[in-house]
Amino acid sequence: ETKAKVIDGKAFAEKVREQVAAHVARLQAENGLTPGLAVVLVGEDPASAVYVKNKGIQTKASGMNSYEHKLAADTSEADLLALIDRLNADPSVHGILVQLPLPDHLNSELVINRIDPAKDVDGFHISNVGLLGTGQKSMVPCTPLGCLMMLRDHHGKLAGLNAVVVGRSNIVGKPMAQLLLGDSCTVTIAHSRTKDLAEVCRGADILVAAVGRPEMITGDMVKPGATVIDVGINRIERDGKAKLVGDVHYESAAAVAGAITPVPGGVGPMTIACLLANTLTAACRANGLAEPE
Ligand code: NDP
Repeated sequence: ETKAKVIDGKAFAEKVREQVAAHVARLQAENGLTPGLAVVLVGEDPASAVYVKNKGIQTKASGMNSYEHKLAADTSEADLLALIDRLNADPSVHGILVQLPLPDHLNSELVINRIDPAKDVDGFHISNVGLLGTGQKSMVPCTPLGCLMMLRDHHGKLAGLNAVVVGRSNIVGKPMAQLLLGDSCTVTIAHSRTKDLAEVCRGADILVAAVGRPEMITGDMVKPGATVIDVGINRIERDGKAKLVGDVHYESAAAVAGAITPVPGGVGPMTIACLLANTLTAACRANGLAEPE
């Protein structure tokens, strides 16, 4: 039986997108400015193609310009870098996103670090990573930002809470931990070498799962009343049907937790909403205008 409050990421994301759209409309009316997001997709990874398509649709729906650059899987590094240089120099482009993963022959770090940090709406450029780590104004990675927004909305202040982040990737786990630390949580980062993961997780008032392993966080690992944020997106087959599940075993965790995000409908929609918010922020900063809150 479900006891936990279900945190509705889909509804929250809709609210964020409406706020972005309203701000974009004001920018156009008062400043003649339309924020623009360029998304670069190299190759034909089907999941990436779906993400890029959704990003384009939602960017346009919010009133911003969307520029899609689809490059062949065998595109050379020089050609990709040349495209980024052009986008960096283009004043109608305020945000640049290179969809990961890139094909093996391309060096993702080199490519990401070529993006103008002010246009790096994914927040993966080394200088944004450093700014976040030192508590300075930066571009914040979309997935952890979406998680933080849901946590703040649910808890109000997060100060003093014990947060456990399972996963230490550069795109989710590490920036999530930095954001929680920034909000004065006591943060533990767990990973594949952590000893007695279940015990570590049971100490969490806030448990964020970003592992990439279907349903590995089970109810016995959740402290009663804890808030569980499930970042995982795993495509599995069950009873002969394709199914999307998180890194959390929803039923057992929801029976113990105080609040929980579902998959789908939790972290996923918030990620794209935060991408739009970051693009709007970048456009405001580039033009010396007041930033959205
Ligand atoms: P990575 O594969 O880059 O990182 C996974 C992390 O989990 C690693 O740090 C790894 O540890 C850790 N891990 C793996 N196995 C275990 C284990 N048995 N016990 C404890 N820790 C373990 O994944 P990402 O961070 O990129 O993504 C995580 C999940 O989030 C995926 O399901 C992905 O699809 C999803 N995702 C969802 C997004 C959204 O918009 N909702 C956006 C991005 C990702 P170690 O470092 O030791 O190997």
